[in-house]
Formats: sequence, structure tokens, C-alpha cells
Amino acid sequence: MLNKSPLRHFLLLLIPTTILFWGVILGVMHVKIDERKAAVQAVEVASIKLGKQAITHELAVVASDLRVLAQYGFVSNPNDTQRGFKAEDLLIFAKEKPLYDQIRFINLKGMEVGRVNFNNGNPAIVPENMLQFKGARYYFKNGLAAPKGTIYISRFDLNKERGKVELPLKPMLRFVMPTYDEDGKKKGVFVLNYLGQRIINNFSKMTSSSIGQKMIINDLGYWLLGPNKKAEWGFMFNNGKTINTLYPSSWAKLKAEQSGQFTDKNGLFSFDTVYPGSELGGGEAQKVKTLSDVGSWKIVSFIPTYKYQRLTGDISRLLWLVTIPIYGAMCFGLWWLSHFRNRGDNAVEQLKIAFEGLDSQVQERTKELRQEITERKALEAQLRKIAWTDELTDLLNRRAFLEAAEKENDRFMRYGTPYTVLMLDLDHFKKVNDTYGHHAGDLVLSEMSKVLKRMVRKTDVIGRIGGEEIAFILPKTEPVVAVQLAERIRKHLETLVVTWEDQKIRFTASIGVAQVKPGTVAFSETMDSADKALYQAKESGRNQVCLYEEVGLEVV
Ligand code: GH3
Ligand code: MG
Ligand code: MG
Repeated sequence: MLNKSPLRHFLLLLIPTTILFWGVILGVMHVKIDERKAAVQAVEVASIKLGKQAITHELAVVASDLRVLAQYGFVSNPNDTQRGFKAEDLLIFAKEKPLYDQIRFINLKGMEVGRVNFNNGNPAIVPENMLQFKGARYYFKNGLAAPKGTIYISRFDLNKERGKVELPLKPMLRFVMPTYDEDGKKKGVFVLNYLGQRIINNFSKMTSSSIGQKMIINDLGYWLLGPNKKAEWGFMFNNGKTINTLYPSSWAKLKAEQSGQFTDKNGLFSFDTVYPGSELGGGEAQKVKTLSDVGSWKIVSFIPTYKYQRLTGDISRLLWLVTIPIYGAMCFGLWWLSHFRNRGDNAVEQLKIAFEGLDSQVQERTKELRQEITERKALEAQLRKIAWTDELTDLLNRRAFLEAAEKENDRFMRYGTPYTVLMLDLDHFKKVNDTYGHHAGDLVLSEMSKVLKRMVRKTDVIGRIGGEEIAFILPKTEPVVAVQLAERIRKHLETLVVTWEDQKIRFTASIGVAQVKPGTVAFSETMDSADKALYQAKESGRNQVCLYEEVGLEVV
């Protein structure tokens, strides 16, 4: 019945509440972290998109510049009235458009005809005697071979001076386009040495809202813009520093797709691909020659795992900080509820009522049981009495008498306490029955018994051991005293008158007396002696008392 102890009650409240609470909290946390991650991912994608636009826009500008130059042509002689740019024009161009380290026109033989150097922001026309032969250079050969209307773009590398990488590093892209005269005859090539740092700077600027590491990676996995300066331009220094050595699995994924975003063990990668040869603007793809030299570049934003996880760490920290105290308070509240409010609880009231009901039920049942026990005891007593008592005379029956007699004999055997036995038999009782009837005889027996019971002590035992034979045990009684009692009985019965149907019935009795003999082991021995004394009394003329003695029977 006591199935709602405070602890049990508490647990019954706590377990579902805990599951619900943490289910909701973890759910909220999950959603919040996902939201944050999605927001970060969106920013990275947008940044990369902006970065790509910055690069392609810059490439388109260079391409349009080159196309203008190529269409207009070059005139080496300042006095020449032919249409075309002169060195002075190139200088103006260089001053207004600080995109190019060099602006050159190279003739079909590979000789520089006109050249303006940027000179770190102070453009100048290179004197004629300083112009060089570039006929053997790969960019000249490839550019000259480019079909009409197309632009050759060299690979993105660092400028070299006299076989050595120029310091500070000067990232360089060479744009080359042939020019033709009015007859369609190839005259030479314009070469723009584009200051590639602008692409890198513009890309970095446009992706400034990204929190990732910004990267520009070429086909071979070399960083043009990398996680640190020492990792960049590895192919120029033959140091083998590629993304493939750092994040091989990530690089494989970056190469496999043109653009996208993925999270792997290294972190979050957001990327796109720039194809400089096909993104020179105006949708004029047919005018662009894509050569393997420039290839393509991967532009990447990379958030390393540790940083990516830290982005959402504040959400979980905040949630833990808020929810743990709330959960603690909730536990306490539930504990309080289950311990104190519980007393006013319906369940407890019902419990009380149930207990009260049970109590009254128990009390009632106890009363019933007590009564049952009393009744049973009375019944048992009654049964015992019935079992022990002779119905007609209300004296002990033969069995009960003999039982009591044996106990008395045991006492004698154990303690030597003597007893005396009287055996009484009515004289000529057959005659009473014959004269007055059997019922009259019964009345005599019952009336006589009442008298006998009154004449003996409480401690004396008196029983009906035969039809009209009554036996007495008189504990601690000397034969003399017993004989005196027997005599009193005999005399009293002699005078007793029993009235039966207006008829007066008189009768007498003979009594044998015997005391327990030393060495007696059974009551029957003493009873035999009393029987013998009774027989003697009968033999001696009836209505008398006889005492049994060792030496012989003494008629009193
Ligand atoms: P005695 O003087 O030798 O004893 O003669 P008696 O007639 O009494 O002979 P005995 O004791 O041998 O016979 C007992 C008689 O007592 C027999 C029977 O008719 C009568 N009697 C025994 N029990 C009952 C009884 O319960 N009711 C009645 N009415 N008579 C009984
Ligand atoms: Mg008899
Ligand atoms: Mg008799």
C-alpha cells in the first residue's frame, strides 16, 4: 500500500521531467548550433563568391585593356602617322592604370619595340637602347601562336630578375595578344605584365567577412595565397609545399568539384574554381585562348576543426551555464514537492482513508476473531464437559474418572500423597427399576448424585463408573476419615426419599473403602481393593460400609 514513499515519488517525478528537460535543452542546443554553423557556412560561401567576382572582374579588366591595345596596334616611330599606340601613349596608360609592371610591344622577331616600366608607381618609358630580345621566352612564343582574337595568359608565378626570384616577391601574370595590320597581317604581340598581387589583395579584401583562412591554390596544389607566407609559391622555390602534403584528403575533394562546401576531419572548406582563360569577361569565350600554363585556381576559405568547434562553443557554454542551475533548481523543487507538498496530496489523503478503512476492518475482524475464540473455547469446554461428564448424573463419566484417578495415583507415586477410594453400589437396584420403572430408577440416580456432590469436598473426585455404581477419590484422606464420610453418605441415602409419580422411593447403598497401598503403581489396584470391600459390604447384608485392609476386610 505504501507505494508512494517520498523518494519513490521524487524519482517518479524526476525521471520523466529529466528526460523531457534534457530532451528539450539538447534539442534547442542542437538547433542553435546547427543555426550557427549554417550561418557560418553561408558567410563562407558568400565570401568565396565575392572573392571569385573580385578575381574575374580584375581578369576581365586586364583582358579588355589588352584587347584595346591589340586592336589599336603599336607604332614604333613617333613621327609615324599610322594608327597605333606610341610609347608615350603606353606611359599615359601605365600612369592611369597601375595594374601592370610592364606594358610592352614585341615585334614578330621577338624584339621589344616599346616598353613602359611601372617602376613601383613611377612609370617610365624604357629607352630604346635598353630594349631587349624576348624571342626565346615561352610567353612570347605562346602569345604569338595564339589564334586571332584570343589572349594567352601565362601561369601565375613570381617575377624573376636574372634567373632569381625578385624580392620583395612580385606575383606576375603575363597577358599576351597578337596585333594585326589593316591587311590582317600579324605585326607582333602586346604583353601586359599584370601585377598579380592585385588579384590576391582584391580576393582577400572581398572575403574579409570570412573567418576562414583564405587560399588561392593552383592546379598542382601550390598556394598562391596560403595559410602562411612560407607555404606560398612552393613551385618557385622547389620546396614541395602543397596543400596535398598538408590536407591530402581535403585536396582530393577540392579538386573533384568546381565549387562547394564540405566538412572533414580538417575542418570546413568552402571553395570555388576560377578559370582565368574562360572568364575574361563579356561572355566572349570564343575570343579567349585557354592554355594549360594558367590552368585554374581554387579559391578556398578554410576553417580548421578546432576553430569551427569553438564557433559554437559559446552556445553550448551559455546553455550549460543557464540550464544546469535551472535543472538543479528543478530537482530541488521536485524533491520539495515530493517531501512536503506530498502531505496535502490527494494520494496521501486517499492513503489515510484507506488506512482508516483498513484499521476499522482489522478491529472488526479482531473482535470477530475474539468472539470466535470465546465461542470456540466455550464449545470446547462444553464438548470437554460432555466428553467428561455423565449426562444423567452430571458426575464424571467412567473415562474421565479413571483419568483423574490415574493422575492422583501418579501424585501418590511421585510424592507419596495418599488417597482413599470409595466404591458405592445401590442395593437391589434392579427392584427399583422393576417396581417403579426405568425412568424412576434414572431419577433416583440423578437425585442421589446431587446429594453426593454436596457431601464431598471440592478436591474430591466423584464419578459414575457403572450403571448404579459411584466411585470417589478422596485425596490426602485417611481411611478412618473416609469411612466416616462413607458412613455419613450411607445414612443420608438411607433417609433420602425420591418422589416419582406420587410414589415415595427409598433405597440404600453399600460402600467399599480402600486406601492406596504402598508400592501401588496403578489406580486399578486400589480400585480392586475398594471393589473387594464393596463386595464384602454386600455379602455382609448391604446398607453398610466396608474398609479394605491388608490383613482382611473390616466391616465398619
Ligand atoms: P445388588 O444389591 O446386588 O447390587 O443388587 P442390584 O439389583 O443392584 O444388582 P446389580 O447392582 O448387579 O444391578 C444393577 C442394576 O441397576 C441393573 C439395572 O437394572 C440397574 N441399572 C443400572 N444402570 C441403570 C440406569 O442407568 N438406570 C436405571 N433405571 N437402572 C439402572
Ligand atoms: Mg451394581
Ligand atoms: Mg446394585
